[in-house]
Amino acid sequence: MSTRKAFRGTLVDFTDDPRAAAGALRHIEDGLLVVNDGRVESIGPAAAGLAALPAGTPVADHSGSLILPGFIDAHVHYAQTDVIASHGKQLLDWLTDYTFPAEGRFADAAHAAMVAEFFLDEILKNGTTTAAVFPTVHPQSVDAFFSAAQKRGLRMIAGKVMMDVNAPDPVRDEAEQSYADSKALIERWHGRDRLLYAVTPRFAATSTERQLQLAGQLLDEHPGMHMQTHLAENHDEIKWVAELFPWSKSYLGIYEKFGLVRENALYAHSIHLSEADWQTMARAGAAAVHCPTSNLFLGSGLFNLDAANASGTAVALATDVGGGTSFSMLRTMHEAYKVAQMGHRPFTSLDGFYLATLGGARSLGLADKIGNFNPGKEADFIVLSPKATPLIERRYGLATDIAQKLFVMMMLGDERAVAATYILGEPARRPTI
Ligand SMILES: [Zn+2]
Repeated sequence: MSTRKAFRGTLVDFTDDPRAAAGALRHIEDGLLVVNDGRVESIGPAAAGLAALPAGTPVADHSGSLILPGFIDAHVHYAQTDVIASHGKQLLDWLTDYTFPAEGRFADAAHAAMVAEFFLDEILKNGTTTAAVFPTVHPQSVDAFFSAAQKRGLRMIAGKVMMDVNAPDPVRDEAEQSYADSKALIERWHGRDRLLYAVTPRFAATSTERQLQLAGQLLDEHPGMHMQTHLAENHDEIKWVAELFPWSKSYLGIYEKFGLVRENALYAHSIHLSEADWQTMARAGAAAVHCPTSNLFLGSGLFNLDAANASGTAVALATDVGGGTSFSMLRTMHEAYKVAQMGHRPFTSLDGFYLATLGGARSLGLADKIGNFNPGKEADFIVLSPKATPLIERRYGLATDIAQKLFVMMMLGDERAVAATYILGEPARRPTI
């Protein structure tokens, strides 16, 4: 039986990085997206598409709204959902005072399951359909997250946090045990349905050299997995890491020594990097993950997208909740714009929407599966309504081209603008079982 469905609206996606290729923005004002068996079958102008549809094919009419690929949040801590909006600290105190106590509660599998469901409800409402997620050190926190994501049919990346030093007992593991626990989780979850495992050492300061070495070993033993961690976020953190690893010339050099700088490696923040670091990242095919709301909230610094671009390093965008202040990728683009402004660097609406869709997919090594509407891609997409609020409607109505319209959505939009989120062509919903 055919599961073909069509969706009419203003189609917007990217075929390439708009900074690298003129015409990378694909915009069909009155377009038709045809989905079959959960995958994109075709896109094109509505008039021709409707005429070619087999009789009886259902058509969802989102005319007047934007249809885009689902957003990709390349760095977020589901276990910090309850830490968002905790006032007034910089990174290291914030971890100690707020984050570690909250993460300690994830030893309780029921708590982890409850937060995982809340988190997924929240990101889907915000139009995020794929995320690279940090649970906690507790294997049950990973099981809870993957189980919840699997029930909803989501493409998600996650992995057990590895953290065997400089952390309180409830959130500390032990190097050999974390290797064994990670291995069991990889066997249980990696490649199951749409789920992918990421080896997840929290950051250099909370792992022994033995643990970092075992993290590299896990990656070597299971090709195709991701690695995710934090890098060069805050000056005090960088100083502390330098004291802990006096033999390393740079923060990135620590990860490099243990084989963690590689393809499908995601380095959250990457704010205070040298030219040599950027070259190392680019050569290895690792990606930098820009987390603007978090960087501003924690006072960490201003990410330099131009430096990343100049080196050829892939960049993704992320909320980094709970250091980040919103699950909305629209608000995240908005803050990325302001970060660029503070550095007197350009940042367009095309930059924002690219980073949150195809740019994220490329950084995650998933551009063959998600990120735009090329035929064959998994049909995770969203509908953004320009009628979300009276102000958005008024300002959007004054915009004269698609770049301006996207800029209005990026500067004024949030979850209220996300009228619908589709997963594999079906409305995202919380499973009742
Ligand atoms: Zn983080």
